[in-house]
Amino acid sequence: MGLEEDIRFMQIAFEEARLAYSRGDVPVGAALRIDGRLIGMDGNTTRTLQEWSSHAEALVIKKYASAIQRAKKQEQYVELYTTLDPCLQCMGAIVLNRIDRVIYGCIDPNAGMAEFDPKQLKPWYSGHWPKLTGGVMRDESYALLTQYMQEREKDWGKILKLFEEMRKKW
Ligand SMILES: [Zn+2]
Repeated sequence: MGLEEDIRFMQIAFEEARLAYSRGDVPVGAALRIDGRLIGMDGNTTRTLQEWSSHAEALVIKKYASAIQRAKKQEQYVELYTTLDPCLQCMGAIVLNRIDRVIYGCIDPNAGMAEFDPKQLKPWYSGHWPKLTGGVMRDESYALLTQYMQEREKDWGKILKLFEEMRKKW
């Protein structure tokens, strides 16, 4: 579970983010790991599928849901790598699927849940809240996301400002 290993798996997620970028989707990628092994990966397809909930993390979880369930029943360790701090929907899916640990790249100052205090939630949610490790390949993730936003200033200008404000504090 060292940083080098986290970087290795984040690179797989980041490659999915790059693929998303090249097809015009929001550049976010995710990869699933069970007991140390890579299970699969996917990228955001909100534009391609014209479906706003098609986030990388949600797609990966859905695709490998039965593998996750099997792993949890065998008390194996389930980890999700994502280039961007998960949103409310994806954190919900992470909690429902009892994912043990989430490793993310960049904080999302607009929609991220990584900095949320789970004590504010009811017991089931706070009890299944994952361990979180942030900042893995943060700068690469930030650069790709903000490049995407800069190219779509009209739609993304406000969110881009939030990202740029955040960066000043790094
Ligand atoms: Zn999401």
